[in-house]
Amino acid sequence: MKIGILGAMREEITPILELLGEHKSVEYGKNIYYTASYGENELVIAYSKIGKVFASLTASVMIEKFGVEKLLFSGVAGAINPELKIGDLLYATKLTQHDLDITAFGHPFGFVPEGAVFIESSDELNSIADEVAKSREIKLGKGVIATGDQFIADSSRKEWIRTTFGADALEMEGVAVAVVCDSLNVPFFVLRAISDSADDSADIDFDSFLEKSAKVSADFIMDMLKLIK
Ligand code: SAH
Repeated sequence: MKIGILGAMREEITPILELLGEHKSVEYGKNIYYTASYGENELVIAYSKIGKVFASLTASVMIEKFGVEKLLFSGVAGAINPELKIGDLLYATKLTQHDLDITAFGHPFGFVPEGAVFIESSDELNSIADEVAKSREIKLGKGVIATGDQFIADSSRKEWIRTTFGADALEMEGVAVAVVCDSLNVPFFVLRAISDSADDSADIDFDSFLEKSAKVSADFIMDMLKLIK
């Protein structure tokens, strides 16, 4: 099985490359794709750069050029659900675009014609995550992730995203991976460790916790890989 592992920032994939040790790199489309074997699986690893556009590009390249058959995203997010604290892990059951707005034409937020407000992730990969969490006795949340091309450091915007989409966490790439994978029939999984609470101190918390939270997410993904056949 060929599996893609995608992050947005270098810090999100560095722990994975370090754990793998030996890997090769291929340059394509102004980005670097790292390849390695891991047990029975072949891995293709990359960070896309921040935001939905770059994440769509990288997810598409992983699938169309490198032939990945499943795609796992590992990274950090801002918490919306007050039960999520810095360092906590959650995966997306479904994802939406909080900054997609053609409501002037009577459509709901997050919707464009022939699209959908929410895209659901793979039940099979989500169950593997539940299994890993159970066997490692790790607390693993699940819920709605809202994606937009904005770093949210504002309690009122965060509250709007919560009430509009019922979102538990927010970030800047997840739904792009979801749209690409859903369109191309590739099962996907989006895991995030909380780096901040998307409020007035989000920028400071993000800088302080990025590396630690990125590692929490990466370690969990590595455990999942052992169970993906
Ligand atoms: N400090 C970085 C920018 C980080 S942008 C720089 O200067 O280069 C935030 C990244 O982490 C995005 O990839 C996003 O997916 C995630 N993220 C974490 N907290 C977030 C928040 N509060 N709002 C939006 N994205 C967040």
